[in-house]
Amino acid sequence: MRVTTVVIGAGHAGLAMSHCLTARSIDHVILERGEVANSWRTERWDSLRLLTPNWLSRLPGYRYEGNDPDGFRTMPETIDFIDRYAAAISAPVRMHTKVTSVRRTDDGYEVVTDEGTWRARTVVLATGACNVPCIPAVAEALPAEIHTLTSMTYRNPDMLDTGGVLVVGASASGTQIAEEIQRSGRPVTIAVGQHIRAPRTYRGRDIKWWMDAAGVLDDRYDEIDDVQRARNVPSLQLAGSTDRRTVDLNRLSDMGVRLVGRLAGAADGRAQFSGSLRNQCELSDLKMNRLLERIDAWATERGLDGEVEAPHRFAPTRVDDAPPLGIRLRGGEIRTVVWAAGYRPDHSWLHVPVLDHKGRVRHDGGVVQSPGMYLLGLPFLRRRKSSLIDGAAADAGDLCDHLAGCLDHGTARAKS
Ligand SMILES: Cc1cc2nc3c(=O)[nH]c(=O)nc-3n(C[C@H](O)[C@H](O)[C@H](O)COP(=O)(O)OP(=O)(O)OC[C@H]3O[C@@H](n4cnc5c(N)ncnc54)[C@H](O)[C@@H]3O)c2cc1C
Repeated sequence: MRVTTVVIGAGHAGLAMSHCLTARSIDHVILERGEVANSWRTERWDSLRLLTPNWLSRLPGYRYEGNDPDGFRTMPETIDFIDRYAAAISAPVRMHTKVTSVRRTDDGYEVVTDEGTWRARTVVLATGACNVPCIPAVAEALPAEIHTLTSMTYRNPDMLDTGGVLVVGASASGTQIAEEIQRSGRPVTIAVGQHIRAPRTYRGRDIKWWMDAAGVLDDRYDEIDDVQRARNVPSLQLAGSTDRRTVDLNRLSDMGVRLVGRLAGAADGRAQFSGSLRNQCELSDLKMNRLLERIDAWATERGLDGEVEAPHRFAPTRVDDAPPLGIRLRGGEIRTVVWAAGYRPDHSWLHVPVLDHKGRVRHDGGVVQSPGMYLLGLPFLRRRKSSLIDGAAADAGDLCDHLAGCLDHGTARAKS
């Protein structure tokens, strides 16, 4: 089977690219191993709501038009939103078609699937940033009796044994899961590594409104100091809920969740935590305050100070004087460990020499170092918002322009 462009993945990013390709009359197909919005259907916990407000999911040619723009979508609503987008743009999706290999050919790429082989001049990798949970090596040393889950396999507290739970990771996924499990009556300990604290609302507006309006989400990959570092920054410690509450470590402490440092090791039936908890929290407060300073400066520059609440700062994260450096894993104190230490993409099926020693695709703003190959949906790919639903429109537009240029160039070369 031949086509000009194969897009791999029918999440919102692949669909956004499809919209741009259609607008340029570039014939294409989207290959999807599951159904449209597969990641939201199969890899998220039941109570999850988006942490971005409804209005902040603008896709090319499509946006939220309901009566709750400031609300936060549930998972069924998120799936429905993406499903409707696929229908609205008549996206040419081949569902239940898993790509098992991509190789370079003389005139483009060979894309092998479990439903046949495609040949294409250009390929767009839109398979997502969160295919595999990051599980630290220390997992190997946990006693066999400990039940382990990840933020991709956790669904709700009912699937847990009674007894203590250790949540490893304190970014958006870890704090939300810790809060829910603590509320279910199981005592939670949360191991806190690098994270970035953020209030849900600031000066009377949603933090994401400020970040969007002040241009923070539009920061470009080729204009910031250290893009590699920026690409590894964890997601903001935020949650979407009907009461718009801030879910930070102070809230978790108030609920009775125990804070400990980063999980550093496990031996003789004990978990060991680093002594860096206070430092990590101070650093996180500092980063939050830097964001608030940028917002305040922008508000003043725009003359908004008279219209919104006055600037203020939040109480620092509270840390015990001597947080535990170890806890017993045997004997029931901890029955379950939930790994919420981040995610990474899986491009193991990509047999083109573009992967670095960590298996990451080498690219410049999504233009992969192999002619006619593009990447979408990764953190800070081209902008700070690149991995958000709202980031796909600008990135897909830019990359589709590049892809069209690449096809024109190839055509011109073939004619000459
Ligand atoms: C817990 C969590 C919460 C998030 N919350 C928000 C939020 O509130 N707001 C927001 O804007 N963003 C949020 N994100 C980030 C982001 O929107 C998602 O990661 C999003 O799913 C990425 O979209 P995508 O289209 O790039 O990838 P995905 O939605 O992951 O789509 C990739 C698709 O590729 C398919 N695929 C993968 N491998 C293959 C293969 N080999 N062959 C065929 N198909 C394949 C998958 O089945 C999937 O359907 C969240 C992410 C996570 C993990």
